Amino acid sequence: MLRREEGILYLVATPIGNLEDITLRAIKVLKEADLIAAEDTRHTLKLLNHLEISKPMVSYHRHNEEFRCDYLIKELKDGKNIALVSDAGTPGISDPGEEIVRECIKEDIKIVPIPGACAMVNALICSGIDTKEFCFYGFLPLNKKNRKEKLEEIKNINKTVIIYEAPHKIKSTLEDLKMILDEDRKVVLAREISKIHEEFIREKIDDILEKVDNLKGEMVLIIEGNYKKKKNDLCNLSINEHYKYYEEQGLEKKEIIKKIAKDRNVNKNEIYKLFI
Ligand code: SAM
Repeated sequence: MLRREEGILYLVATPIGNLEDITLRAIKVLKEADLIAAEDTRHTLKLLNHLEISKPMVSYHRHNEEFRCDYLIKELKDGKNIALVSDAGTPGISDPGEEIVRECIKEDIKIVPIPGACAMVNALICSGIDTKEFCFYGFLPLNKKNRKEKLEEIKNINKTVIIYEAPHKIKSTLEDLKMILDEDRKVVLAREISKIHEEFIREKIDDILEKVDNLKGEMVLIIEGNYKKKKNDLCNLSINEHYKYYEEQGLEKKEIIKKIAKDRNVNKNEIYKLFI
């Protein structure tokens, strides 16, 4: 007996504002899919109408993720190709998607990403804050205890921090952040990316807070890592341990000496003399 081919799950990124940000490949996949699983079918219908695509759709959102998964897996096993979309941006990033991906992996069903818009990446690249290492927190928890734990983590982390926030909660989140951040830690508020009122506010948290009541639209916060803590920790090491720390990161002697001098705020010749 011939085994029927299984379908493919496509995770299709859609625009986060500007409809021109849909990719050619995303259009092709949406046109060719047998079924579209959408976070909000009414919302996605607008996009499909704009693209002149007519397709069967089912909802796939936070509240039906579990039972809808079973249905989607069955359809995939029956050979249907499914395009999964969220309301905006990349599915699975603070949006539904994780669950079905895990189920597909369990069932050995092929998953294909269709790359495109993602608010956090675009906020980060325009922020001017370090893009080499970052930590994406999504939406901060609302539960007091969990939120406190996350804020404590953000206070100390030595990587760029990215946070999503709803417009009506941005003020209280900025107020919470103000309590834990040193005054000189840079904060960037990226707003309405790819839309008419796109804006990047690169100011002190106090100044952003002063403006926030008049800010509308979708927002991402980018926060500079706490490099002071790392610097303090390193300066508490012996000079040899400090050297070893950078050596273990694969740095050359010259670079290590420069870094130690910078961390300890001394002339690099002084450090150099210690290591010849
Ligand atoms: N999956 C989406 C992505 O790939 O970015 C994120 C969905 S999450 C439910 C929505 C949050 O993303 C908003 O509250 C906001 O923080 C951020 N966001 C979405 N679109 C945005 C935009 N155009 N400008 C700024 N932030 C945006």
